[in-house]
Amino acid sequence: MNTAVERVHCLIIGSGPAGYTAAIYAARANLKPVMYTGLLQGGQLMNTTEVENYPGYPTGILGPEMMEDFKKQAERFGTDIRFGLATKVDFSTSPKKVWIDDTKLIEADAVILATGAEAKWLGIPSEKKLNGSGVSACAVCDGFFFKNAEVAIVGAGDTACEEAIYLSKLCSTVHMFIRRDEMRASKIMQDRVLNTPNIKVYWNTETDEILGDTVVEGVRIKNNKTGETQVIPITGFFVAIGHQPNSAVFKDYLDTDKEGYIITKPDSSKTNIEGVYACGDLQDKVYRQAVTAAGTGCMAALEAERWLSEKGIH
Ligand code: NDP
Repeated sequence: MNTAVERVHCLIIGSGPAGYTAAIYAARANLKPVMYTGLLQGGQLMNTTEVENYPGYPTGILGPEMMEDFKKQAERFGTDIRFGLATKVDFSTSPKKVWIDDTKLIEADAVILATGAEAKWLGIPSEKKLNGSGVSACAVCDGFFFKNAEVAIVGAGDTACEEAIYLSKLCSTVHMFIRRDEMRASKIMQDRVLNTPNIKVYWNTETDEILGDTVVEGVRIKNNKTGETQVIPITGFFVAIGHQPNSAVFKDYLDTDKEGYIITKPDSSKTNIEGVYACGDLQDKVYRQAVTAAGTGCMAALEAERWLSEKGIH
């Protein structure tokens, strides 16, 4: 099969706040950016409800609406936004090579990586077997299917709290399993969870097995202090235990830490390869906020522009 080849000046991979912000800056700097969105156009904020902490939205905004605003702003300055997934790269050459959906080859002078992160799973067999049949990693996407039902959620970070509160408005009872005797979430989110009458918190509790042959019918949990097990009838099981960076495609060329986050040079978005920049959750395991992702997207575009100009690549 012949692979179609296209030459672009600035290629952006990923379409969360980092990717779109990089696109706005790159387009306004006349770098003629081409963006490939990845499978989840708009990134993780597409799975969020209310965003209350992004400056500029004093009354809050829904995540998907915010990402639509980002997209429109990137398009307004001429970003060429396309649907597609980067499946292979070769950063050893100049221009850099990026294959899209295994079929199309893009040769780019500068590449900005903004592929974000995705949900982690517990790794027990029943979770895989029943995925999509009552097991989900996105309450906002799937909570609707469990109206007035009993559900469970695992995790104790801000995401788990946010999702438990979301589910509590739809479901009769939300059983929340926390593996330690405290939550990692911010104090305000913890208080909201603990003050929601239909969220039942189980401390020192791990998931032994999700029960059901074809759909979720219950869950067996275990107290890791006493060893005691308990079966709870539920129809929905939500996993909210954090995320991992989408860096697998780049790992042969770019330095990563042991969790797979791309390592960028201090105070910059530069990777170990000249002309390749990383921004957003792909390289940030500390802040992981939409606004910090947008900030690093801006840095990536400015650094790409300076580098292209210094090298005289037009
Ligand atoms: P976190 O990494 O903060 O939390 C993950 C949680 O899952 C921890 O409580 C962890 O437990 C638990 N966990 C991990 N593995 C397992 C397992 N195998 N079994 C049971 N529990 C497990 O991830 P989040 O997605 O919650 O948040 C990521 C970042 O995004 C954070 O910085 C957070 O503040 C931010 N965020 C902010 C929001 C906002 O401001 N509105 C909303 C959502 C997220 P343990 O504590 O024991 O390690």
